[in-house]
Amino acid sequence: MSKVVRKRASAAKPAAKPVARKAAAKPRIRARSGRLSKQEVHELFSRLRELNPRPTTELEYSTPFELLVAVALSAQATDVGVNKATRRLFPVANTPAAILALGEDGLKQYINTIGLYNAKAANVIATCRILLEKHGGEVPRDREALEALPGVGRKTANVVLNTAFGEPTIAVDTHIFRVSNRTGLAPGKDVRAVEDALLRTVPAEFMQDAHHWLILHGRYVCKARRPECPKCVIRDLCRFPDKTPGDARD
Ligand code: SF4
Repeated sequence: MSKVVRKRASAAKPAAKPVARKAAAKPRIRARSGRLSKQEVHELFSRLRELNPRPTTELEYSTPFELLVAVALSAQATDVGVNKATRRLFPVANTPAAILALGEDGLKQYINTIGLYNAKAANVIATCRILLEKHGGEVPRDREALEALPGVGRKTANVVLNTAFGEPTIAVDTHIFRVSNRTGLAPGKDVRAVEDALLRTVPAEFMQDAHHWLILHGRYVCKARRPECPKCVIRDLCRFPDKTPGDARD
């Protein structure tokens, strides 16, 4: 069984959100068009790290299997909604054998507040069966084996490899895709292009946590509709031409 530090208590604390900080306090690097330079990329991650030295997922989990299930349930759902469901499910069943024993209908009773729960229940049950039959009931630390599980794509595999096993992977979701393109950090026309660009661009010292820094920045600061540019700590680095106007506020 892989050793995993329990995440529940600290993962969802609002204090971890990387918001509200004046960019003016930081050294300015003159913005140019196009991609960020190596120096700018290093400065960008240094600032995100300073705001939040130990970023992590807001999904609640305590084992690789719990994380796998939580991520599988999170497609087109909020982390808050998934946590509400898994807080009821995991105390009752948090192993492949236990969830398989619940059965598909039994599992649905715990996750029916989450969108697409019928399909997700079927996938989780099928995943549990494969984990027991092929992997001794453990979550495999292997991309190919993870992506062979029902409902598990590259993004979910990357989240599990990075967050549960500490692999230097980056799962590109809508937030990371937006931040990478707006800032000029790792522009790309689709999620795979952005993932490949990030893997080429992110310095090794930041690779392990880059996924969470970027996702939290996109979720709480660089929002889709009205990014909070006046408060953004990387505003002077960012290449986005349509920044929200205004001065930093306390
Ligand atoms: S300056 Fe605005 S657009 Fe650029 S990263 Fe910050 S919030 Fe996003």
